Amino acid sequence: MSHAAGAADPTKYSCPSYSTSIGTMPTTPAHDTTEVIVVGRGMFGAAAARHLAQGGVDVTAIGPNAYDPDHSPATLNEHDVFSSHNDEARLTRRQDRDEAWAEITARALRDYRALEDASGIDFHHDVGCLIASRPGGDSRNHDPIAQLREQGISHEYFGPGDRTWAERWPRLDFPATHATAFEPSPAGYIRPKHLIAAQETLTRRSGGTLLNDIVTGVRPLGAGAGFEIVTATGHHLRSSKVVLAAGAFTNFNHLIATPVNLELKTEVLVLGEVTPANADELASYPTVKYLTDSDVLDAIYMTPPVQYPDGRSCIKMGANICLDTNPTDLDTVQRWFRTATDDSYLELLQPALQALWPDIGFTSFRTRPCIVTYTPDRFPLIAEAQPGLVVATAGNGGGAKGSDAWGAMAAELVLGN
Ligand SMILES: Cc1cc2nc3c(=O)[nH]c(=O)nc-3n(C[C@H](O)[C@H](O)[C@H](O)COP(=O)(O)OP(=O)(O)OC[C@H]3O[C@@H](n4cnc5c(N)ncnc54)[C@H](O)[C@@H]3O)c2cc1C
Repeated sequence: MSHAAGAADPTKYSCPSYSTSIGTMPTTPAHDTTEVIVVGRGMFGAAAARHLAQGGVDVTAIGPNAYDPDHSPATLNEHDVFSSHNDEARLTRRQDRDEAWAEITARALRDYRALEDASGIDFHHDVGCLIASRPGGDSRNHDPIAQLREQGISHEYFGPGDRTWAERWPRLDFPATHATAFEPSPAGYIRPKHLIAAQETLTRRSGGTLLNDIVTGVRPLGAGAGFEIVTATGHHLRSSKVVLAAGAFTNFNHLIATPVNLELKTEVLVLGEVTPANADELASYPTVKYLTDSDVLDAIYMTPPVQYPDGRSCIKMGANICLDTNPTDLDTVQRWFRTATDDSYLELLQPALQALWPDIGFTSFRTRPCIVTYTPDRFPLIAEAQPGLVVATAGNGGGAKGSDAWGAMAAELVLGN
């Protein structure tokens, strides 16, 4: 905890670089029969596997390694899957859209430090979060500042036109119509791939197995007989129980007999590259959540500069955008994840990012595609979908920060607790 981001990232962990081709990457050999197989080594799956392994359960987690760089076209095949955490930063804060959700996130936040200490991998940067909204919110969103009050979360409040906060963060700007609130540490951001690395270090240490592969079928073997899991590289494994934590790909690749009710939404991030000097200067700026007045772009979230694997330091910003779509089939989702910088999105995102940092001379801009997975009730789906098979998915755009607690819930549920 408490590390400023910047050119010299102080995290103790450095991501290993693996080949991108599934099947040639280093794998840990799996047993033929396992008590629980976790499908997906993303944010929910890695947490579930760690809780199971530390609880003494014989567990194997199967999925692409979190450090696998974006799939390149050369490695694409019909089963290819992508993750919604493949980025360098995710916002974390106690404020949330709902009290129950806020409580679950708070549980995960409380355990960040213990996870970092036990694994030796730092992932939490507690720079705080600055929230800007018109008083009362808007027609699309509840007022997040009112939610801070309702949820009893300590914060500093600045009414519309009160720019006292700018004495601390003079490079940022919001419209004078907006009130501002600062939620202090432990709010800030987490590095999702480092969090997964921390979870998996502890899973391995407790005897769990990690397999670098894609699951292409989960077949129930009959009442009480468990499951057969088939993978893209030809493994056939058996398990008594399954946790399906495949994120946006839960309903694809024959993982589940009856699809669960999920809505996928495309989302695009803009990465604005800053100079090394700006990266140092802005490293301890807070993350931002900002409800805009714009008709085309809503609910902005943003991190201070973070170093990306190519060495560039970038401010990341995302939002709901009028161009977003709702893909429903595997082929469309795969094609979406393979898109490069999209000029139509950039046209909307770039000016919005620049408006928040009026004096910063960005040196480049690029966009990255992602998918948000929603449920009808806007809560993560942690449920037994069929006997012995628990689905854990749908962060509804906010699942990363509390992923450890959502994964713990899935682990409890699959054990029948
Ligand atoms: C653009 C964007 C910004 C976000 N920002 C925030 C934020 O600031 N704060 C926050 O808290 N949350 C944020 N979220 C949400 C958060 O990232 C997700 O809720 C979280 O990643 C969900 O975790 P998951 O395990 O369900 O899915 P994922 O993290 O996507 O993991 C699913 C894993 O399953 C694997 N998989 C899929 N199919 C298979 C298969 N057949 N076999 C094996 N493995 C498979 C995938 O490769 C992936 O690794 C954001 C999401 C997006 C898209």
